[in-house]
Amino acid sequence: MATSNVLREYHAKRDLPGSGDPGESRRGLKSGGQRFVVQLHDASSLHFDFRLEIGGVLVSWSIPKGPSLDPGEKRLAIRTEDQPLDHANGRFGAGSVIVWDAGELVNRYEHSLEESLDRGSLGIWLEGEQLHGAFRLVRTRGSSQEQWLLIKKNDEGAATRPKAVLTGLANEELV
Ligand code: MN
Repeated sequence: MATSNVLREYHAKRDLPGSGDPGESRRGLKSGGQRFVVQLHDASSLHFDFRLEIGGVLVSWSIPKGPSLDPGEKRLAIRTEDQPLDHANGRFGAGSVIVWDAGELVNRYEHSLEESLDRGSLGIWLEGEQLHGAFRLVRTRGSSQEQWLLIKKNDEGAATRPKAVLTGLANEELV
């Protein structure tokens, strides 16, 4: 159906220099920094998995519509299970996974990311290929699932029009 077609297009247009080096999703990452990864995952429904390296694991959210660079667009983000760090390259689970973006995660605030996560308000700075600048993840109240909103801060990394997304850094076909 439509979702498979989207992924097929991604696969067709992907750029694979050096025949799929597994390190390519770390492109742009300064050594020693924490990292983030956003994976486009074609499972029962197409969604984005947004993963932040916090406290030695990949703290994860499922974002049905994916991140937005428009500060006016709040994106629903459902907290999912933490994943081991080596899952950043997407070689796990069911369905097809594309690394949509990856890069460095910076904490520019006084509190540690762990504390902010517990408090339900997480300010982060991302240096990726698609995502740049400040974002905030805010936990919403009164839901049984852990629902958060991902919001782009209005800075130089903001844009009201989405960039082309057909620039996946790497992908894996999984059976
Ligand atoms: Mn997923």
